[in-house]
Amino acid sequence: MSTLEIKDLHVGVDENGVHTNILKGVNLTINTDEIHAIMGPNGNGKSTLSAAIMGNPHYHVTQGEILFDGENILEMTVDERARLGLFLAMQYPSEIPGITNAEFLRAAINARRSEEDKISVMAFIKKLDKNMDLLNMKEEMAERYLNEGFSGGEKKRNEILQLLMLEPTFAILDEIDSGLDIDALKVVAKGVNSMRGNKFGAMIITHYQRLLDYITPDYVHVMMDGRVVKSGGAELALRLEQEGYTGVAAELGLDY
Ligand code: ADP
Ligand code: MG
Ligand code: MG
Repeated sequence: MSTLEIKDLHVGVDENGVHTNILKGVNLTINTDEIHAIMGPNGNGKSTLSAAIMGNPHYHVTQGEILFDGENILEMTVDERARLGLFLAMQYPSEIPGITNAEFLRAAINARRSEEDKISVMAFIKKLDKNMDLLNMKEEMAERYLNEGFSGGEKKRNEILQLLMLEPTFAILDEIDSGLDIDALKVVAKGVNSMRGNKFGAMIITHYQRLLDYITPDYVHVMMDGRVVKSGGAELALRLEQEGYTGVAAELGLDY
């Protein structure tokens, strides 16, 4: 079992000499075998939280800790965190021209393995075929340049392919459902659900209950004003769907 622990995390950005606090003391613990949904109105620091976990240098941690199995990862680079087993699917996945999807995936898998343990071409192809089948992806997607000319839905599907191929210990999926039609949403959910187990945990950031109809979260957290203000089970997402965030805000006496 592995644990990702976020303790009293304060994060801000510096722009034009001005420091803005975005996260104001986030506490959250995710174990493997658990899926956590993070919900909340726009602009409350959900993406900032995922960026801080992955080590995006634009976001400055001013207080608190992020521990992976007890080890503080805050001094680690993005790359080191990925090697450790963290995976972030971005809201706006980038294009990498000149490298095919398959090349990228194989390099990424091998980056996490020692010299003696590199994946063979045969094993890689077998794994790639299996996972592309699961996600109903066309074979040619493997040979296309990474994300170049991919439609929004193809990029999302491809992020899930990366997830299945890399088998991270913890995945952070930031609005993986935005802009997806219902079929693509089901495919994304199928991919995530296939990862469930005692070697995998996930933090799924979403605005909508819709995705959670297909990926049942073990825990739901509401973020407002840079903090986790309320946590519950899957029923909390249903309540938010009914009441919006105003109900929770009123209950907690928060401005919204
Ligand atoms: P969410 O994902 O919940 O919509 P974000 O984490 O993207 O929220 O943003 C939280 C707040 O921090 C917003 O007010 C946003 O404008 C601000 N913010 C986020 N990233 C930056 C940045 N790079 N520079 C300046 N402000 C930022
Ligand atoms: Mg946003
Ligand atoms: Mg966001």
